Amino acid sequence: MIAVHEGQDRILGHIGGPVPPEVVPVTRALARVLAVDVQAPFDVPPADNSAVDGYAVGSGDIPGSGARELEVVGDLAAGAVFDGALRSGQALRIMTGAPMPAGADTVYPQEVVEQGGGRVRIGPIAKGVNVRGRGEDVEAGGIVIEHGTVLRPQEIGLVASLGIWQVSVHRRPRVALLSTGDEVAEPGTPRRPGQIYDSNRFTLRGSIEQAGGEVLDLGIVPDARDELTARLREAAAMADAVVTSGGVSVGAHDLVKDVLAELGTIDFWQVAMQPGRPLAFGRLAGTTFFGLPGNPVASLLAFMLFVRPALWKLAGRRRLFPPAWQAQAMEPLRKRTGRREFKRGILAYRDGRWEVRTTGPQGSGILSSMVAGNCLIVLEEDRGDVAAGEIVMVEPFNEAF
Ligand code: AMP
Ligand code: MG
Repeated sequence: MIAVHEGQDRILGHIGGPVPPEVVPVTRALARVLAVDVQAPFDVPPADNSAVDGYAVGSGDIPGSGARELEVVGDLAAGAVFDGALRSGQALRIMTGAPMPAGADTVYPQEVVEQGGGRVRIGPIAKGVNVRGRGEDVEAGGIVIEHGTVLRPQEIGLVASLGIWQVSVHRRPRVALLSTGDEVAEPGTPRRPGQIYDSNRFTLRGSIEQAGGEVLDLGIVPDARDELTARLREAAAMADAVVTSGGVSVGAHDLVKDVLAELGTIDFWQVAMQPGRPLAFGRLAGTTFFGLPGNPVASLLAFMLFVRPALWKLAGRRRLFPPAWQAQAMEPLRKRTGRREFKRGILAYRDGRWEVRTTGPQGSGILSSMVAGNCLIVLEEDRGDVAAGEIVMVEPFNEAF
């Protein structure tokens, strides 16, 4: 038996550098992983500019008390530049975003002044207000976004604000995916007695895509040695990683082990966790192989724990694990010491704190527990039974990071 963390460390230790980069337009860069730091070629904003529609003045003209009249010497729209410089006694009508004229450092919002006849009447105001400083968003030469960052809409907008229209991102890791088992039938086709429909290939496909991978779907392979050998060879030849489900336990027809032993260097691990103990991991003709358990909850959990960090590393991401939160258990939880247990939980914010309860029956075949839940409740190895009210660790399903 190995611990979950040990399995994760071993796997990440085997994954080499990220897959190579490619250049894509910013319009295609959403959710991709930046391969090269983005540096600012200039300050953003490029000049001090007005944050409001109003009147720009030099702070020397601000009255300490009472009011004062200034001559309005021009009207500056956003996108225009004022040629001259303001002298004492002068103000410039200015629109939001227009660059500050020389001689001015403060802007009166138009609502706080009286104006008419080419003059504006102003009162006391704090020096320097309503001006956005040059470079206050981004300074020239600074690293704006580090490589390894997953690009969200705001990163893409920031890149675009620098005038950059294409970025270097890692290509998506290609993941060959297949299900094993004579009993597994393709959804949309008739099912023979004794068969179940494939669900793992669909939860895993979605999980691979959410992790930034590209799926090469190799379908369902029956428990037949020759076919499995051929399909795994094919998978290894075309992908950066191969993911299978089923066939890794000790049943009479669990052939994945035998076939892999011939094709590559594979370890079979018993991981001290619940659900989903058996896991196969190794090298298969130059690619990384993951043999996940067949039970639907176990295979999805094994993906989250072992495959996702590896795909994230392959994809060039900086952070390889989701953040954990803390919540108060609203019910007692059975827990055996010596293994890491994962229960499907429902996490909610109520009465000023995060609360979590389980989704009900936790069998490793009960996929609907994943549907009812919005998080994993993670109970550490050395922990025993949990009483209601204790603090537990949770990992939200929704990748909120
Ligand atoms: P195995 O590890 O192959 O013995 O499978 C363990 C359990 O998971 C069995 O009940 C299988 O029927 C089930 N199972 C295996 N593959 C799939 C799949 N692709 N979709 C849904 N259930 C599966
Ligand atoms: Mg099987």
